[in-house]
Amino acid sequence: MPKDNAVKIGVLALQGAFEEHLACLNRLKVEASEVRLPEEFDGLNGLVIPGGESTTMARLMRDYGLTAPLRKLIRNGFPVMGTCAGMIVLSHKIADVGAPTLDAMNIKVHRNGFGRQIDSFETDLSIPVIGKKPYPAVFIRAPFIEHVGDGVEVLARLSDGTAVAARQGNMLALSFHPELTDDLRLHAYFLDMVRNSVKR
Ligand code: GLN
Repeated sequence: MPKDNAVKIGVLALQGAFEEHLACLNRLKVEASEVRLPEEFDGLNGLVIPGGESTTMARLMRDYGLTAPLRKLIRNGFPVMGTCAGMIVLSHKIADVGAPTLDAMNIKVHRNGFGRQIDSFETDLSIPVIGKKPYPAVFIRAPFIEHVGDGVEVLARLSDGTAVAARQGNMLALSFHPELTDDLRLHAYFLDMVRNSVKR
């Protein structure tokens, strides 16, 4: 199958699980590149912020001069998907991250929200926007969404009601790791967001 030349996606590659996201995007035949410098945002139609360690990632983003330009791009409608630590980085400032977050998405997150006992787990989620089939979600020292503000739609909850996926316009935030499963529906969903933003 030829590459989908219509869109180019960047994956923030300072730290964390960026290679797995690049692999997923490649499997979807989309051009994807690693981003470490502000000028590498040029020509991109969207960005994935991977899982990793939000404290380290936010600090590196600040040190590499990425936080302010990315915040501005997002405010102007640039599509982003943040997974796990990436969701934390997208959210409002939280005290224990130590460096500025992007303060872009109107959500309050709880880091390491599932406690030490259940560090990691996998569960089938119902995510209606990607179809009826349950989605196998992998959680690793995951944050959850404690509070959603105006303009945010919760896309998935655990059986106890905890919000673990949300969208606000051009922003998609997931508590779990879609790059660690073979199910590419969430990457495909993000690509639809990107394509719709390109059309406009
Ligand atoms: N616990 C990490 C943090 O707070 C997130 C873990 C992950 O991205 N898998 O940044």
